[in-house]
Amino acid sequence: MLQRSWTPLMAAAFAVVTALAAQSARAEELAKDLFGAKKLPAVAAPQSFGFYSKGCFAGGVAIPMDGPHWEVMRPSRNRRWGHPVMIGLIEKLSRDAAADGWPGLLVGDISQPRGGPMLTGHASHQIGLDADIWLTPMPDNRLSTNQREKMSATLLVDEKTHLVKEALWKPQHALLLKRAASYPEVERILVNPGIKKKLCDTVKGDRAWLRKIRPFWGHDYHFHIRIGCQPGSPDCKRQEATVRGDGCDQSLAWWFTDEPWRPAKNPDKPKARELMTMASLPRECRAVLDAPAPSSAEAATYHGDGRSIAAAAAEPAVAAAPEPAITSGAGALPASASAFAATPEIGIPLPRPRPGN
Ligand SMILES: [Zn+2]
Repeated sequence: MLQRSWTPLMAAAFAVVTALAAQSARAEELAKDLFGAKKLPAVAAPQSFGFYSKGCFAGGVAIPMDGPHWEVMRPSRNRRWGHPVMIGLIEKLSRDAAADGWPGLLVGDISQPRGGPMLTGHASHQIGLDADIWLTPMPDNRLSTNQREKMSATLLVDEKTHLVKEALWKPQHALLLKRAASYPEVERILVNPGIKKKLCDTVKGDRAWLRKIRPFWGHDYHFHIRIGCQPGSPDCKRQEATVRGDGCDQSLAWWFTDEPWRPAKNPDKPKARELMTMASLPRECRAVLDAPAPSSAEAATYHGDGRSIAAAAAEPAVAAAPEPAITSGAGALPASASAFAATPEIGIPLPRPRPGN
């Protein structure tokens, strides 16, 4: 009798111990490997957890590979997933930009199906609220899968001078960026400093939107749209507000000094994503990782109705937990500028306008 009543208890205790051991082993696994292996999103109400460069999200939806005014590039990466508001915004931008005369969007990386750190590239793009859009317009002919994988992008900025290549820059580029900045959801647009400078030098009339256009390394063939934390995501950590003004000031001039371009002091220092374990991410990200998947990518593809099948599964599968400790997302950056904070104000003179400007 005694034996029989103890057995289930012991089995239960054993199960708990095993689960705990598995959990602690998983805590040491690299988050990029776990999130990078997920092919489909977490079925739950859409919700972002953590910060742009340290987090994950549930209820992700995919942008279709093709739309009337967009094509998804590099499809094999499976990074066409985002918060439904992000995906809806890209579709809206594609329509509005087409009306402005931009032939269509080539959509670059958004997020992995459940976000999280990626195996390659990008410090951010982890919570479904970042998207890269190419500065190359969509061609007239539909691109084949092979072309989407292989087609190289056009670099709009000279690597040495950090200035825009005049022969390639078109007024339509400025119109596209202005349109993207016009949406209230969009908090920041990251562009190469050369592109920011070009806008500073040429935009007439309304310049208020330039405040959202932020200079940053790279971003010479694409721009990066970042939207704010969305309703329903109490555990999404907001980035710093952008500083007042159009940003065509000393903070931009800093990018045309040597400092931002000096080689890193310790070039071998591993990037944050190389070290991030599950323990570094908000604890809800474990539940995001374990949540059920939809039956197929198509079942979680956004078709413009503002809902997805994943979101329609209703019950939030991911329970809220106390706010995790999140340190600054800027730790891995090479110099004193961050995509989330203001560029440092430093005491350097503004470059003089070129003659004839
Ligand atoms: Zn990006």
